[in-house]
Amino acid sequence: MENLSALSIPDINCLIKKGDIKVHELLDKAYKTIEQSSLNTFITLLKEESYKKADDIHLRIKNGEDIDILTGIPIAIKDNICIKGHRTTCSSRMLDNYVSPYTATVVERLENKGAIIIGKTNLDEFAMGASTETSFYKPTKNPYKHEYVPGGSSGGSAAAVAGLETVAALGSDTGGSIRQPASFCGVFGLKPTYGRVSRYGLVAFASSLDCIGPITNNVADSAILLETIAGPDSMDSTSIPEDVPRYYDMLTNEINNVTIGIVRGQLMDIIDKDVADVMEDFIKGLKFTGITLKDVTIEGFDICIPVYYIIATSEASSNLARYDGIRYGWIGNTKYDTLNEMYEVRRGVGFGKEVKRRIMLGTFCLRSGYKDQYYDKAIMVREKIRMSFEKALKDVDVLLLPTSPTLPFKIGEKIDDPVSMYLMDLCTVSISLSGLPAMSIPVGYQKGLPVGLQIVGRRLEEGTILKICHFLEKNGLASSNIENL
Ligand code: GLN
Repeated sequence: MENLSALSIPDINCLIKKGDIKVHELLDKAYKTIEQSSLNTFITLLKEESYKKADDIHLRIKNGEDIDILTGIPIAIKDNICIKGHRTTCSSRMLDNYVSPYTATVVERLENKGAIIIGKTNLDEFAMGASTETSFYKPTKNPYKHEYVPGGSSGGSAAAVAGLETVAALGSDTGGSIRQPASFCGVFGLKPTYGRVSRYGLVAFASSLDCIGPITNNVADSAILLETIAGPDSMDSTSIPEDVPRYYDMLTNEINNVTIGIVRGQLMDIIDKDVADVMEDFIKGLKFTGITLKDVTIEGFDICIPVYYIIATSEASSNLARYDGIRYGWIGNTKYDTLNEMYEVRRGVGFGKEVKRRIMLGTFCLRSGYKDQYYDKAIMVREKIRMSFEKALKDVDVLLLPTSPTLPFKIGEKIDDPVSMYLMDLCTVSISLSGLPAMSIPVGYQKGLPVGLQIVGRRLEEGTILKICHFLEKNGLASSNIENL
């Protein structure tokens, strides 16, 4: 049987409606692929519940009920997004036994349309990382070459989509965690405008940066997922009150008067030749599409890594203070003489090395008398970076730049060198700091490994990004299928 997860959501929907496939078959195929896979993509499978939902959908179809485009579609959810009654581990020993008492808004919205959540995917502990190696449940592998990382922190979601273990997935992106694993696994990953999608039920890492978004095998699926999960939510005060366009209806095979701003001059010394070569080939291809191209420079790009790591670790140190081993988290069975001793053991053992490093860094940045030198200053520079992007996007519709400065690297290669791991985030964190939407699209391969590029749009203009990316996909310039490129 052909792998049904390779089909797009609209195609699967047609087959279900015509009675050519049953939702049960979709689930059988997904679970069989997961069970035979050695990628280590899932932490928890929701098999029993999924089949119950399939029975229910089957009855509804039999009774002649009209179904939504997402009905019966298997979706994987990153394990830092809550589903009531199921574990949400954040890939941490700290939350190994934590069962969510409520469901995230994004999951509720997907389920309201009949989507089936098949399981929870692996990630870097508390979404801190760029390789999925810091997971308490062992690293996920890159589907193209198993000795390479799938990127992170949403590596489980991206590898599951690329490995056809699910039709689509949700990830979270604080500084690149949807886009970079999408790039490393050769799939599409969309980080929406900050606030476009509710964070209610997403375990907080850095609250002023965290976003939830789709990871898919094609642009149409991302459009369908985004229009389902986006929109105002009274449970998240940072969610944007604006209405959500019907992104899927906006996708056409024609686009007119589009200008793409290419960010390359200032990056050429920083990104690897393998990535630069793919980008140049892609630009050559663009020249035949009628799209206008323009070179642009983003001021302040080089300062983004320190600014991001000050803000992200400061906010993380505050957010993770709640895991004190009393109200939440790993407890163990050691006896303690003092409260401090208890914190030391419970937080010391419950958290992994990278999380502790970040809590210490963030606590250092926020300590009494120093906040204005680090966090407040970083917030000021962040505003300048945002303004640079706004300026660059005045004369062009979208920007184009690499997603990652390198190809996927080997498992273990950077794990003991945190600074070189942080530098991996160069091309994604600037966009996160600016709060802008961006999609990583798979555009080529080098040495048998995928390369992605980012299309960055203006605030709330996810529709423009999706339209352009769909056009590029239809013209053979982007595809999750190696043979189509
Ligand atoms: N790699 C970045 C970090 O380690 C981004 C993580 C994320 O977006 N969750 O912070």
